[in-house]
Amino acid sequence: MKRIIIIGTGIGGSGIGALINKNYKVDMKVFEQNKIIGGRCGSYIKKDDQDREWKFDVGCHIINACDKGPLGKILEKIRKSQEFKWSHTKNPGPRVNIMGMELRASGASRRKKKDKTKRSRPTLIHQIKEMPDDEIENWNYRSLKEFLDERLGNKNLLMKIMYSMQAGVMFGTSPKETSAGEYLKCTKLNAQTMSMGYPFGGCGAIPETFCEVISENGGNIYLGKEGKVKKIIVQDNGVIGVEAGPDSTFYEADIVIANSDIKTTVFKLVGEKYFDREYSNWIKNLKWGGQVCSLKIGIDKIITDQKMLTYVPKTEGIGNAFKAIEDELEDLDFKKMGIPEKSAQLIVPVSNHDPSLAPEGCQNIHTVTPTAFGKMVKWSKKDEDKWRECCINSLVSLWPEIEDHIVISDFISTSQLEVRFGKEGAGTGIAQSIDQVADKRPSKISPIEGLYFCSGDAGGWGIGTELAAQSALELWDYFEKNNII
Ligand SMILES: Cc1cc2nc3c(=O)[nH]c(=O)nc-3n(C[C@H](O)[C@H](O)[C@H](O)COP(=O)(O)OP(=O)(O)OC[C@H]3O[C@@H](n4cnc5c(N)ncnc54)[C@H](O)[C@@H]3O)c2cc1C
Repeated sequence: MKRIIIIGTGIGGSGIGALINKNYKVDMKVFEQNKIIGGRCGSYIKKDDQDREWKFDVGCHIINACDKGPLGKILEKIRKSQEFKWSHTKNPGPRVNIMGMELRASGASRRKKKDKTKRSRPTLIHQIKEMPDDEIENWNYRSLKEFLDERLGNKNLLMKIMYSMQAGVMFGTSPKETSAGEYLKCTKLNAQTMSMGYPFGGCGAIPETFCEVISENGGNIYLGKEGKVKKIIVQDNGVIGVEAGPDSTFYEADIVIANSDIKTTVFKLVGEKYFDREYSNWIKNLKWGGQVCSLKIGIDKIITDQKMLTYVPKTEGIGNAFKAIEDELEDLDFKKMGIPEKSAQLIVPVSNHDPSLAPEGCQNIHTVTPTAFGKMVKWSKKDEDKWRECCINSLVSLWPEIEDHIVISDFISTSQLEVRFGKEGAGTGIAQSIDQVADKRPSKISPIEGLYFCSGDAGGWGIGTELAAQSALELWDYFEKNNII
């Protein structure tokens, strides 16, 4: 029986673990250094001062294609899709609030009904929906900015801002850096499936379901101190096991799958000397997607019926805002400029998807904002407090009465993300920039025999959770085709 060790219960780790354990008899051990399952996609319960339970997510998530995307595919393959419930972002659909103007996220805005007898040019979203896959592939190594300039010219500034902001939220990269191919693939999937949404039970329900399958099929999951892997042991260029737990116990393995971030895995868990210089330099120089922080608040009032809102605060003018997005996003240095009073946010009132996530009559709202693009910033405690304030101010500018109704809140700062989950506080993983997608992405197969990567850092395509799920599906395909298990 093959001995398999998985490091991390993020979407990539728990996803590949479930796929393997559902289909093969193996000796599987899964190590997770946190007490909760799911990494960035985990959920946890907090009680307010009336002892009522609120379910918060580590991140703040909207899933691009839910049951019709790669997460749905994994659930299907592990035969859990029937019992897993999704809430789709409909009635109302996704909204964008840009400098006080509310638009529908499709870019359709709130126009008057058109005269159906008149033929109109297809919108950009319709063009993307119909775009052949090979045409999209050709955009992999070209930027979103180039694509928007080509398709929208100098007009449609508002649309350009909106698409650029959406890409910023999707990948944490600027329009100059974002791979147009990656953006187009994700947007096409979304337009074709129209199944954006959020899972019942909170985001953690996804990795928890994957881990349930691992346990049901005899796998062992170690959490917290017991679950912290300290070293991956390599002999003759092949893995032989890991050292984990407070006593650095040695666990033998034929295969080790690292869901831990790729830089930590290469440089700390394995050690640079086991890789050739070219490979380790390349890994060292890979860029992470943008850093983020996330606020969750519980309010004792129903304040909105929204299910997902992208918010861009008012600035001096549309032209200025686009200039900032177009020219400066990767250099937008909040460390130098000072932390803004309000900032761009992806807001998900999660209890509008699943009312059980808040006590009756209350609302549970999650929000996320980028804290850095293109560079990794170390924030002080004082700065992190300012980011928290910035998230609250942004919510208050949308719903002024909110401040008087907050009964509970929790804030996951960029530094907390880094300490607890790695990737230097990045939201997703290795950035999906023009130089790091498709063939230019780290492979799931490491140069060390028996060591694989499975996460938002290796292979795959898609937004956040779906990028990691796609990494798991691709690794699963590789295992199947090559009879590895
Ligand atoms: C604030 C925020 C908002 C987001 N918004 C969205 C969104 O709207 N839509 C979307 O799809 N995605 C979103 N994401 C991104 C998404 O959550 C992640 O991209 C995805 O969950 C990453 O999965 P992963 O498999 O790469 O692993 P991770 O979630 O990074 O998990 C890796 C796991 O490995 C564990 N680990 C690391 N080292 C060790 C070790 N030595 N021993 C044991 N365990 C170890 C970590 O503890 C962690 O649990 C968001 C993320 C954040 C933080």
